[in-house]
Parts: sequence; structure tokens; C-alpha cells
Amino acid sequence: MRIAVVGTGYVGLVTGTCFAETGNTVTCVDIDKAKVEKLQGGTITIYEPGLDHLFLRNLKENRLHFTTSLAEGIKGAQIIFLALPTPPGEDGSADLSYVLGVSKELGKILDAYAVIVDKSTVPVGTADKVRAAIAANAKVEFDVVSNPEFLREGVAVDDFMKPDRVVIGSSSERANALMQQLYAPFVRQGNPIIYMDERSAELTKYAANAFLATKITFMNEIARMCERLDADVDMVRKGIGGDERIGKRFLFPGIGYGGSCFPKDVQALSRSADEVGYEFKILRSVMDVNQEQKTYLVPKVKRFFGGSLRGKKIALWGLSFKPNTDDIREAPALYIIDALLAEGAVVTAFDPEAMPGVKRMVGDKITFAENQYDALEGAEALVIATEWGAFRTPDFDLMETKLAQKVIFDGRNVFEGPLMASLGYYYESIGRRPVK
Ligand code: NAD
Repeated sequence: MRIAVVGTGYVGLVTGTCFAETGNTVTCVDIDKAKVEKLQGGTITIYEPGLDHLFLRNLKENRLHFTTSLAEGIKGAQIIFLALPTPPGEDGSADLSYVLGVSKELGKILDAYAVIVDKSTVPVGTADKVRAAIAANAKVEFDVVSNPEFLREGVAVDDFMKPDRVVIGSSSERANALMQQLYAPFVRQGNPIIYMDERSAELTKYAANAFLATKITFMNEIARMCERLDADVDMVRKGIGGDERIGKRFLFPGIGYGGSCFPKDVQALSRSADEVGYEFKILRSVMDVNQEQKTYLVPKVKRFFGGSLRGKKIALWGLSFKPNTDDIREAPALYIIDALLAEGAVVTAFDPEAMPGVKRMVGDKITFAENQYDALEGAEALVIATEWGAFRTPDFDLMETKLAQKVIFDGRNVFEGPLMASLGYYYESIGRRPVK
């Protein structure tokens, strides 16, 4: 099939590359000229494990193309995906200007039947708006489908190639048949394609993200209770995770969710609720608790230093909002940096992938280290904000030679208390007994 993907960010590039990988001819469109030139030249623009290999192969085999021209990109495409940003507007609702702007353009240039697929996360009713925006100028037949994307950054290729399920919201048999054909290679193992109406598909994506954000937040509150009641959240987690109704996954407490999706999607769903006169109370609490959770470690660090962080040298491991990505959107580490600097601390950070992005944001307000050990040079405490694999079993001997004091505040429960005790660390984590 001939596919166009409009918007070549995290979702668009993964979507385009993976569809090319199953034999389709894909053109990705983006307004960012520099990004398109890089991609055309074989340089990948995001860090996503496994993606570079597929990207280069499909580029070489001429199945994957990039352009800044929408008209050129959609030429001959049977299916046109919209993988455009839907950032929060001023009131927290999803800003649809990118999606509707491109839809309007599509109406003017479509010259044959095509299925326009919304892959962006959009509020209920957007498919109708997209349809109307295209129809305003369209001279040919078209269908609009809502196909929310559930991939997780860091494992996006795996998630896309082997999705748990594919949700297709459509009221057109013709569109469904094309979508079925396109997705067949991805669901060979028997995972379902779930067909539904557009509105339900749109709400499904928000419901999924809001539920997951709630699950994390619930565990973060249980962790706070553990600290107050002298219990261990790891035990509680295992104890409840064994119940199939609860499940083992997504029960790990930490310093809150971040990234480009959960924060904005929870906010947008809450805003949608407001618009229909419903107060979605649980989402309000989720947002409040998560906001506090991002800097939850800072008062603990401050307490350790007797109430003042002025001039204290703090090492920070991890900047991305989660491991295996360079994405720093809404990353808790950024909030920690702000809070530590506001307290007068001196911060040296290391992250395997996310330092360039943070450097652009904070400039020389903090120092960036060459590697995780250099970040510890002379530090009076280490704060861990992201659970990168390389932080899990570090060279403790080397750490000891660098740190001025053996003190760790672990926002991701990377280490086990007994090990820290045997190594002689002062160690605080989330919802577990401190090691003193
Ligand atoms: P992104 O910001 O990484 O990428 C968006 C791209 O669209 C950018 O490259 C931008 O230059 C381009 N763009 C903007 N206006 C354009 C235009 N008029 N024409 C062509 N290109 C244009 O965003 P993303 O993370 O890929 O997210 C896209 C959508 O997918 C959002 O709605 C998001 O909520 C949703 N989503 C994201 C994820 C994720 O993990 N990132 C997962 C599921 C769903």
C-alpha cells in the first residue's frame, strides 16, 4: 500500500518506519525542514531502541521517504495518518490547531479516495471536526478513522510491531477493510483489532492513559503511607500484584509520571469532563498528587542537610522522564533541578541520552558530566531521577572514590536497602525504610 504519515515526531517516525518494514511504501511529511533533511540523509532524529536499524533498512530499500510538502507526501496515498502534536492549550484542553489545520489543507489537495487516520491523541468529537475541515474543500470521497496509538517511548518499535491490541474507530466498511489489510501483519499472533465508533476510540486512548496515571499515583500514595506506617512498599506491591484483578505491572512507586502523554492527557480528559458539566474528581487528585511527587525527594534531601542546601554539591543521575528515551517533556528531573537550584544547591547531572535537551533548557545553571561517575566528583549526595539500566549495578568501588559522602536519595527505587546498608550508605528511597 501507499501510506502517508503527516508529522514525523516520536509517533510519526515509528509509525512510518514500521509500516515500511511490512512492505508498504511510506512517505513521512513534516514542516520542520531541518528534521526532514536529516532523515532524508539517513540521520535518525530521535533516540528509540531498534528504530535506527529499521529506519536505515527501509530508507535503503526505497520504501521510506521524507518530504516537507504535504501535496507531494500524500500523492497516491490510500491511507494518510495524522501524527501531529496535540499539546495542552491555555485551559488544559487539547490544542487541535495542528490536526485541523492539516485537515483543511488535505481537503484542498486530495485528488482520489483516501482514508484519513487520526493517530494523534484527540478529544471525543475530533473525527467529526476533521471530517468537516476536509469536507469544506474536498472534491473527492474520503473517510476519517480514529486509530489511537498506544506505543510507549523506549519500547516503541516492539509496541508498534506487536501491539496488545489495535483500536479502530470508524463508521465506514471501506475504511475498515483497508485498515484491516494494513494491520494484518502486526496482529498475526492473535492479538485483536477492536473495531468501534470514532467517539469510543477517541475516549479509549484518554481512558487508557488516565487509568495508568491513576495506577501510578495510587501506588505513590501507598508509598507515602508506607513511610508513615513503617511498612515496605515493595512488599505491598508484590502482595497486591499477585491478584490478577490488579496485575503486577505499573505498580512501581517513584517520583511521578512525566513525558509528553500522561500529564497532558490526564489534563485534557479532566478538561473534557468540565466541558460536559462533569467533575472528574479522581483526575484532579491524580494531577495534584503527581505534581507534588516530582519534587518529593527535595525536602528529604534538605532535611538530611539540616534544613539548608545552600552550596551543597548534589549529583543527579537521570534526566529523561523514563529510561531508554531522550524525551525530557515534563520530566521530574527538571522539577528537581529547579527545586535544588532554588534552595541554593550546586548540581552536576548525567544522563546517557537526554543531556543535550536539558542543556538547551537550563544552559549553564548546572554542570553536565561526561559519565555517571564523573557526576559524583565531590558530591555530598546523589539523587537518582531516572532508572537507566547502567545505574542499576554501578561500580560501587569507583563511586566511593568520587563521592564526598556516601549518601543516596533514590527516586526510582533502583537499589535494595540491604545492599546499601552493607556498603555503608545513607540511603532513602520511595516508600521503603531508610538505611541510616
Ligand atoms: P512530536 O512533537 O514528537 O511530533 C510531532 C511532529 O509533527 C513534529 O515533528 C512537528 O514538526 C510536526 N508537525 C507540526 N505541525 C506540522 C504540520 N502542519 N505538518 C507536518 N508536520 C507537522 O509528537 P509525538 O510525541 O509524535 O505525538 C504526536 C501525537 O501522538 C500527540 O497527539 C500525542 O499525544 C500522541 N501520542 C504520543 C505518544 C508518545 O509516546 N510520544 C504515544 C501515543 C500517542
